Amino acid sequence: MSRAKPNTKGGNRGKMDCIFCQIVAGEIPSKILYQDEEVIAFRDINPMASTHLLIIPRRHIPSLAHLPDTETPLIGHMVKVANQLAKGEGIAESGYRLVINCGKEGGQLVPHLHMHLLGGRRLSGALG
Ligand code: 5GP
Ligand code: ZN
Repeated sequence: MSRAKPNTKGGNRGKMDCIFCQIVAGEIPSKILYQDEEVIAFRDINPMASTHLLIIPRRHIPSLAHLPDTETPLIGHMVKVANQLAKGEGIAESGYRLVINCGKEGGQLVPHLHMHLLGGRRLSGALG
């Protein structure tokens, strides 16, 4: 009888080393602004605007490119949470930007899917 190999695809080790998984687990302190069963949101440690929040899934998904087709509703949920947070931050009227960087050339530094919510100043029109 053949025994299934442990599934380390996507990187169990990467997950253990993952800064955002450690934030989800409470091992790295952060001020959680919102949480539910699927996602948490907290302030970026190096803010690029007066509001700079990160919305992340609790589950370790390395990037958008690793998101299974069946899980695309997660992104809609993250947008919903971001819209609520924008209201709470008082930037819903003035405007804001949601960004998901994907992969090296997309500017992603932390390999755990996350959405940036930026606002509170006029953001540059540049997209890169
Ligand atoms: P990326 O370039 O991967 O899209 O963005 C990663 C973001 O995570 C950066 O804006 C960075 O400042 C933020 N970040 C990295 N490490 C930490 C951390 O330990 N705590 C918090 N709150 N933000 C972090
Ligand atoms: Zn992770």
